[in-house]
Amino acid sequence: MPIVRRGMRGTENPSNSSSSSRLQVLTSHLLTPQTAMASEKEAALAAVPSDSPTIFDKIINKEIPSNVVYEDDKVLAFRDIAPQTPTHILIIPKVKDGLTGISKAEERHSEILGHLLYTAKLVAKQEGLDDGFRLVINDGPKGCQSVYHLHVHLLGGRQMNWPPG
Ligand code: AMP
Repeated sequence: MPIVRRGMRGTENPSNSSSSSRLQVLTSHLLTPQTAMASEKEAALAAVPSDSPTIFDKIINKEIPSNVVYEDDKVLAFRDIAPQTPTHILIIPKVKDGLTGISKAEERHSEILGHLLYTAKLVAKQEGLDDGFRLVINDGPKGCQSVYHLHVHLLGGRQMNWPPG
């Protein structure tokens, strides 16, 4: 049974991080909007692709606060701590099952992949993004991925541009 929630904005204490690269990734998300674009890239380049637990496991396990907007038994959707658009929500599988990124997807993941996209549609509707929105999945260093737990970015609330950067 899905649970829909609205609550406080999430925060993360970087002192909980287990490595300097992880610390870099987390602190980069606390910078000002002026440096956000550069810091996202720096965070992605600093991140080490791995199947180790990430900050998202702590969010799933409620070890750190987050602003959850939707939850069911398979997925969690929460507001991005460094929003790039007025509405910026991350949708993640609760069980990573090897899905550090979309490039690691196997046929057995088809159901959860479909569920993530369907959830994005539900959350977009819930957020009132009736005029349109964008879904993004960053993959690997060149795709600017900084957290190695598959996540779909739901971006909306302003006019998007194309091509993306
Ligand atoms: P990506 O760069 O595609 O890997 O996206 C990772 C996203 O996770 C970034 O947009 C970050 O702002 C976001 N993020 C990192 N830590 C948190 C957190 N504690 N709560 C919410 N979002 C976070």
